[in-house]
Amino acid sequence: EIASCLVGSEMCIRDRMREHTGGMKQIRVELINTGTEILLGSIVNTNAAWLGNRLFEAGFRVERETVVPDGYAINEAMRESARRADIVIVSGGLGPTSDDVTREALCDVCGVDMHRDEQVAERLKSYFERRGISIAECNFKQAMVPDGAAVLENSNGTAPGLVMPASGSLPMFILLPGPPSELKPMVEQSVMPLLEDLADEDIPHLRVFRLVGIGESDLQELVDDSLHQVEGLEVAYCARIGEVDVRLVGSEVALKQGEARLRILAGAYVLTPAGVSLEKAVVLHLAEQGLKVATAESCTGGLIAKRITDVPGSSGVFEFGWVTYADRAKTKMLGVPEDILKLHGAVSEPVVKAMAEGALDRSGADVAVAVSGIAGPGGGSPEKPVGTVWLAWAFRGGETRTEMMLYPRDRGSFRQMVSQKALAGLLDARRREQVTE
Ligand code: ATP
Ligand code: MG
Repeated sequence: EIASCLVGSEMCIRDRMREHTGGMKQIRVELINTGTEILLGSIVNTNAAWLGNRLFEAGFRVERETVVPDGYAINEAMRESARRADIVIVSGGLGPTSDDVTREALCDVCGVDMHRDEQVAERLKSYFERRGISIAECNFKQAMVPDGAAVLENSNGTAPGLVMPASGSLPMFILLPGPPSELKPMVEQSVMPLLEDLADEDIPHLRVFRLVGIGESDLQELVDDSLHQVEGLEVAYCARIGEVDVRLVGSEVALKQGEARLRILAGAYVLTPAGVSLEKAVVLHLAEQGLKVATAESCTGGLIAKRITDVPGSSGVFEFGWVTYADRAKTKMLGVPEDILKLHGAVSEPVVKAMAEGALDRSGADVAVAVSGIAGPGGGSPEKPVGTVWLAWAFRGGETRTEMMLYPRDRGSFRQMVSQKALAGLLDARRREQVTE
C-alpha cells in the first residue's frame, strides 16, 4: 500500500534535486518537532537527536531542525521547510487530543481533505478491546487520513504515522508520533525501508578523533589548513575540559586522507584507537606495556581511580587507589613526612612527590600518580590561589616528575581538568621512559 502510494514520489524528489542551486546533490532533509512542552523545557527533544543520528547512518543529513509549539505554528513551519527541503519529517501532534493538530496542518499545506480510513479505525477498536477498555470517541480522530497519504502502522501505540508523497513543488512529508517509544520502532520498521532507495550511493561517514594535551585554537592553527585541502572533507572541532574532538565527515577516501594529515601534524595528541576516552586509552597503553598504576588523590576525591575503573578490564592495570584528603591521611596511609606537610603545606611539590612515591612503594605498582590542589571556592591564599594544583608521577626505577597547574574554575570543572591532566601524564610519562631507555 505504502509502496504504490509512493510511486512518482521518488522521481519528483530526484527532479527537485536536479534543480538545486549551488550544485548540491544531497537530498535535503528537515525536521520539525512539535510540542509546547519542548519549548517550555518540560521535556528534552530527544527525537531530534535520535533522528539526526539515525538518518545520518542511513546516508541522509538533517539540514535544519525547527521546534514549534502546538497550533498554527506547525502549518507555518511546514510551509517554510517545504520551500527548502526534499523530505520534511514532523514529530508529534498525531494523538487524539485537541492540541494534536499535525494531521490538519498537513491537509492545509498540501491543500487536501481527509477521510476516515476504516482499516485504521478497526485497528484502533481492537487495540482498545485487547486492553479491555472502551474506546473514547475522540480516538477516531486518529483514523482520519489526509487524501493521498499512506498510513504507517504503529505497533506500540494508537496514532499511526503518515507519509505524503512528494508532488509538484511539495516535498515528501513524513509524520511521526511524538513518544520516542512509538517513533523509533516506526522509523526502523516503516520509514527506513522507504528511504533506503533514495539514499546517496556514496554515503558520508563520520569519524571522531579525540586529542589530549593541546587546546582547540592551537590545534586549529596546526591542522585546519591542511584538512581543508582534502576535497569533500568537513571539519569541525568540539572542545571539552582538557580535550578536543575533531570531527571529520566525508567519503571513505576523504576520511582516510583527513586522518593521515591529522596524524602527521598532530599525531602526538591523538588518542588511539580513534574515539576512545582518555581513561580507556590509558588502560590500553598500560595493559600493552604490562604496567600497573596506583593513584593517590586529594582534591579529586577518587575521580582518577573512578575514571580508570570505569573501563572494563581495568583490573589488569589497577590495584590500589588512595583518597587522602586530610594531612593525617597523607601521613598515615602514604607515609608523607609530617614535617614537609608543615613546612610546605599539603598543596606543594614535595608533598605530591611524597604521595606518589608512597603510593608506588606501598602498592608495588610500576607507576603512581598523585594530585593535591585547592578546588575552592574557599581555601585559597595569595600564594596559593583557588585552582592551584600540584601533580606528580612516580615510576619504578625512574625519576618522579612533577607539575604545577592553575585552573581557577568551579569545583566540578577543576576536578575534571585535574583528573584529565593526571591521566594524560600517564601516557606522556610512558613515552618519556621509552625515550630514555
Ligand atoms: P500522543 O498520542 O501521545 O499525544 P503525539 O503524536 O500527539 O502522541 P505529542 O502529544 O506531541 O505526540 O507528544 C506525546 C509525548 O511524547 C510527549 O508528552 C513527550 O513525552 C513525548 N515527546 C513528544 N515529542 C518529543 C520529542 N521531540 N522528544 C522526546 N519526546 C517527545
Ligand atoms: Mg499528543
